[in-house]
Amino acid sequence: MLKQLQAELAQRAKSGLMRQRRVLAGAQQPEIHLDGQALLAFASNDYLGLAHHPQLIQATQQALAQVGVGAGASHLINGHHALHEQAEKTLAQFVGYSSGLLFSTGYMANLGIVSALLGREDALFADKLNHACLNDAAILSRASFQRYAHQDLAALERLLANSHARRKLVAVDAVFSMDGDIADVPRLLALCEQYDAYLLLDDAHGFGVLGQQGRGILSHFSVSSERIIYMATLGKAAGVAGAFVAATPVIMDYLMQFARTYVYTTASPPALAAALTQSVAVMQQEPQRQQHLIDLIAYLKQHCVLRHWHLMPSDSAIQPLWVGDAEMAVRLSQRLMQAGIYVPAIRPPTVPQNSARLRISLSAAHSQVQVQKLIAALQQAESELA
Ligand SMILES: *Cc1c(COP(=O)(O)O)cnc(C)c1O
Repeated sequence: MLKQLQAELAQRAKSGLMRQRRVLAGAQQPEIHLDGQALLAFASNDYLGLAHHPQLIQATQQALAQVGVGAGASHLINGHHALHEQAEKTLAQFVGYSSGLLFSTGYMANLGIVSALLGREDALFADKLNHACLNDAAILSRASFQRYAHQDLAALERLLANSHARRKLVAVDAVFSMDGDIADVPRLLALCEQYDAYLLLDDAHGFGVLGQQGRGILSHFSVSSERIIYMATLGKAAGVAGAFVAATPVIMDYLMQFARTYVYTTASPPALAAALTQSVAVMQQEPQRQQHLIDLIAYLKQHCVLRHWHLMPSDSAIQPLWVGDAEMAVRLSQRLMQAGIYVPAIRPPTVPQNSARLRISLSAAHSQVQVQKLIAALQQAESELA
C-alpha cells in the first residue's frame, strides 16, 4: 500500500498539482503573515470581516467564562445548549423561517440532509460544479446521482422528466464556490414544482453577502417555497464555524430525527453559538459592511482589465481570474506572492481540466486602495509572464 500511495503522490507532484499548507499567524484579515511573510491576502471566505469582529470576540469570551468550552454531548442527549437554541432561532428568522438546525460544519450538514432525505429508490440531481461535499452526500445516500452541465437547466429538465424516482431532490450551490456565479433559483424552483422535486440550496457563499442585509439567496430572489431546503455555512461570511438548515416544519422534524451527522456527533462549543447570534446582529447593525463589499466587487470588475486573463462573470465576492493552464496559474500566484499579495491558484481536480484560475475573494475588510494594489500587481505580473 505504501508504495502505491507514494506513486500517486509522485504523480500528483509531477503534474504540478501538489498542494501545500502555509502557516497563518495572527488574525484572519487582509494583511496577514503566512509562513512568516507579510502579505496582502485575497483568499479567505471571511466576506464581511467578522472573523475578528470585537462584538463576536466579546460574546465568545463571555460565553466561555460562563459555560466553558466543550458542549459535552450531542444535541439529542444533553449537549443542546440555550446558546445553540438562541443562535438557531436567530439564524432561521434572519432568512425567513421560524426554526433551524445547527450542524458542526457545512460538510456535515450536506451529508446529513441528503442521506436522511434520500435512499436507494430516490434521485439527486446536481449541477456539475457543486461543492465536493454535495457529491459525497449523494454517494453516501445511495440515491441515483444525476449530474448536469453547469447551469444547464434544459439538461436538468430532461433528467427530471425521465426520472421515475420515489423522491427527487435537486441540489445546487446558490453561489458556485469556484466560479462565483449565482444559481437561477426561480427557474430551478419552477422545474421542481413542475416535476414534483425538492430544492436544496447550499448558500455557503450567499449568506451574509446577498440579499437584504445579507439574508442570502432567498432574499436576493425574493423566493420562498415549501420545496426549498435552505442550508448556509457559518465559517464564511458569518465569521465563525458551522452551518444551519431551515426548511418546512416536517422536513425540520425529520432531519432532527434522521440526519446522522446531526444525531451522532457532539454539539459544537456553545460559545461559538453565542458568536453566531452576534454575527446576525452585526449584519443588521452594520449594513455598511455589505455595501462596502458590493462597492469593492463593482470596483474590481470595472478596473481589473488585463490582456491575457479575464475575470469570470460573477457578481459575488468570489471573483475568479481565468488563466486556463494550471502551471501558469501557479506561476502567476507565485509572482504575486513575491510582490506581497496572496491569491491562491485553483487547479484540477478542484476545477475541471484546463480551467485553472486565481480565486480572488473580496471582503468588506479590504480597502479600495488594497484592491488597487491587487490590480496593479496583476498588470505587472502579466507584463512579465504572459
Ligand atoms: C465551504 C463550503 C461547504 C462546506 O462548509 P464547511 O462549513 O466549510 O464544512 C459546503 N458547501 C459549499 C458550497 C462551500 O463553499
